[in-house]
Amino acid sequence: MVPNTGSYRLTNARLHASLTPGLVATFDSDGFALADIAVADGKIAGIAAHGRKAAPADAVDLGGRIVLPCFVDCHTHIDKGHIWPRKPNPDGTFMGALNATGADRAARWSAEDVARRMDFSLRSAYAHGTRALRTHLDSVAPQEEISWPVFETMRETWRGRIELQGACLIGIEGVRDRKWFDRLAKRVAAAKGVLGVVTYMVPDLEELLDHVFAQAIKHGLDLDFHADETDDVAAISLKKIAEAALWNGFEGNILVGHCCSLARQPDLNVLDTLDKVAKAGLAIVSLPMCNLYLQDRRADHTTPRWRGVTLLHEMKARGIPVAVASDNTRDPFYAYGDLDMLEVYRMATRILHFDHPVADWPQAVTATPAGVMRLEGFGTLAAGGDADFIVFKGRSWTELLSRPESDRIVVRAGRAIDRQLPDYAELDELMVE
Ligand SMILES: [Zn+2]
Repeated sequence: MVPNTGSYRLTNARLHASLTPGLVATFDSDGFALADIAVADGKIAGIAAHGRKAAPADAVDLGGRIVLPCFVDCHTHIDKGHIWPRKPNPDGTFMGALNATGADRAARWSAEDVARRMDFSLRSAYAHGTRALRTHLDSVAPQEEISWPVFETMRETWRGRIELQGACLIGIEGVRDRKWFDRLAKRVAAAKGVLGVVTYMVPDLEELLDHVFAQAIKHGLDLDFHADETDDVAAISLKKIAEAALWNGFEGNILVGHCCSLARQPDLNVLDTLDKVAKAGLAIVSLPMCNLYLQDRRADHTTPRWRGVTLLHEMKARGIPVAVASDNTRDPFYAYGDLDMLEVYRMATRILHFDHPVADWPQAVTATPAGVMRLEGFGTLAAGGDADFIVFKGRSWTELLSRPESDRIVVRAGRAIDRQLPDYAELDELMVE
């Protein structure tokens, strides 16, 4: 359907207002307008309202199919991905996940093991239409010495297909060993990575956060936190991060993931936290599939009563940048998943009510994470930008989000890519006990 020439015109494409900043057209109540897209030499030469210019005879009529920019997945763990067959979560709880993953990492995460699973994950993400991806990298000693070089090689290998970013991942208590943590921050800076930690309500949290910010400022690093991935209302580390950002005068980008407990806290506390988050300029990413899986998991096998996600609507209403992302795939933190951002968006629409109206929620898997990751030109469709987009079968939100869209066409630099997904059997030999 998309010519293999790199230069052509697509007519009758359905584009969304929130993702096509330069398009002058009459958008319907779902945010869509029909448009024509000119592609030349792998770039978008122009986008105009449908029919405004006479179409050449060889133009391809998309018949009103939705076209979205390629996805940006700003929170993943491709170093953990696909270990499920050899290390499942015994009970589906957060502690079960932490313990199982820790044991597997210590026993099995050689450079080859990590590299092969990472590559498998990236091939899936690419086939589904993802153009940029940030992964956390477990950096508990001695894993940082193994995973970071693998990541740096992988980033070079994948350049031009997936723009890769890495963030280190350690529990905040790891910051107490100043010497080791400062070395890690230096290592992350050398790899042009992002400084990441998991915050818990430890007694010295504020002091440890100050040190994290000091290292980020020293090396010019952006920050990425896992915060409050629990139903415990006493978990308020999101607020502590915002306060630390303010009093340290931090000017880099900060992304905070999860923030589950916020949805359980009293309104007055929530408002205070959101004020600080907005003032400090934090961006928030919710991981709806992983949260649904781990949160409110009950030991007595009774039914979960809440969805696990954080307060994205309230955040967006205050101008806080909000995104959704994949998080874990087929590991003890989440038994499923394939780094398909359309699946993430479909699930987010249902779990988080990204509908009635859809408004600018499609930015949560495209333009907003691109901004957080400092990726200019990613996540929108505009003249002069790369012709990196996805042509779906669906012509409306209900058509798009009701089927897996396994037959979507992913276009990169103007050409449809081979969308073959890697075969699970490729990983079988890594899964032997
Ligand atoms: Zn995560």
